[in-house]
Amino acid sequence: MKQIKTLLQYSTQEFVEYLKSHKIRRFYFVYDSKNKKIISSHKILNPVADFINSDKRDFNLHEGLFFQVTKNYDTLQGAFVHRTNRGQAAGGVRYWSYSNMEDYLRDGLRLAKGMTHKNALAGLWWGGGKAVMAHNPAFNKNDPAIRESIYKEFGELISSLNGCYVTAEDVGTNVTDMANVYSKTRFTTCIPFELGGSGNPSIPTAKGVIAGMKAAVKFLSGDTLKGKTVAVQGAGNVGIPLIKYLFEEKVKKIIAVDISSENVERAKKEFPDKKLNINVVDVNDLSIFSTECDILATCATGAVLNPATIPLIKAKIICGAANNQLEDPGKDGNALFKRGIIYIPDFLTNRMGIVNCSNEQYGYVNNDPFIERHFSKDWKHSIYKTALMVLKKSKKKGQQTGKVAVKIADKLSKENHPVFGHRGRKIINSLVENKWYENDGFKMS
Ligand code: NAD
Repeated sequence: MKQIKTLLQYSTQEFVEYLKSHKIRRFYFVYDSKNKKIISSHKILNPVADFINSDKRDFNLHEGLFFQVTKNYDTLQGAFVHRTNRGQAAGGVRYWSYSNMEDYLRDGLRLAKGMTHKNALAGLWWGGGKAVMAHNPAFNKNDPAIRESIYKEFGELISSLNGCYVTAEDVGTNVTDMANVYSKTRFTTCIPFELGGSGNPSIPTAKGVIAGMKAAVKFLSGDTLKGKTVAVQGAGNVGIPLIKYLFEEKVKKIIAVDISSENVERAKKEFPDKKLNINVVDVNDLSIFSTECDILATCATGAVLNPATIPLIKAKIICGAANNQLEDPGKDGNALFKRGIIYIPDFLTNRMGIVNCSNEQYGYVNNDPFIERHFSKDWKHSIYKTALMVLKKSKKKGQQTGKVAVKIADKLSKENHPVFGHRGRKIINSLVENKWYENDGFKMS
């Protein structure tokens, strides 16, 4: 019991030192469906497996978690594969600092599960996964040479997993990093445009948010966004095209805030004659939440819907692009529901980032139907149709929208890929059979 506490409370770098002292570079935790529990590649890591097995909040029968310590710069890198029934686990790589091993593991488990739900609800033939790299504070993460090395080694980790997980860009990772990942593995999306990637997804993401807003308005017996007043938090890559689309929908007025004066000036220049009221605010300013409006679009950072902001909200609808808007999905989702505020779950309406890059290998066509159908009103997995279905079920069952959406997504995520079946699980079984952790440059026997 003492050891469980110790390993999970280690800082990520203490954990790296612990691994090095036992000459472990690669290790895994894999779900053993016969014994119905996670097993670890190394006995001395059993306390971590025990912790994962006992966790009810973030662990959700994840199929496999694969880790390595980089040869240079001692960085802990992990690929978290949640569920692969619908296809290879897909989701981005986060490069972040964590206070201890428990935080690191929890973030990977939670984010991977979230990707399963996002991908399934979008009707994509992809499973869900995420990669998380823990920043080693001994090294400057802004040094291009260090980043190049770390991301290339990450690419090698992904190649070694034989395709059960396909990576992408996420918080802390940039376009150059993705080019470095791509130089070492084919199992990545979100590669730079010049190398055949799909490019910046912010415009389709903004369009997806509009589709979510339209569903919410329809649910309230409205028909269009015309004449609505919209409050926007964050005029960045998504916020600016969102404002453009809202004006095209003939909204009455937009009130927006951003902490960056540069972005506020850019917005003012872009929409000089429009009814845009945009101001620079302090990072802790909450005035946007108490703004009189019909719709609140949260397009800045996560955890903005919380006990401090929810009582202030005047909008009837919340629909924005930011990830993980609810600080506590259970409590804060319930609080919004009790207040009668319609909340379109972020992972439903902001899906176009992953949709945009997920099928890069199939090439590009103008007005791509595999993109456009997400904005339609009739495709069964479109943002509009899914959001309406979630809202109706939420009303009927008296349950908050997030919970309803997760239930639908969970069911969809258990459907097997129509061609490849549950192949990801078979890949993981092969990695286990071949003692993946013993190989530095892994080859299938
Ligand atoms: P961005 O960094 O370009 O824009 C965010 C903007 O919010 C910035 O202008 C920033 O100054 C502002 N901001 C930050 N904190 C603020 C605060 N407290 N008050 C007001 N403004 C604040 O990011 P983005 O690409 O526009 O993405 C916005 C959100 O949507 C992020 O949470 C992102 O994770 C999520 N998201 C983006 C995409 C995409 O395609 N870009 C896809 C899915 C989800």
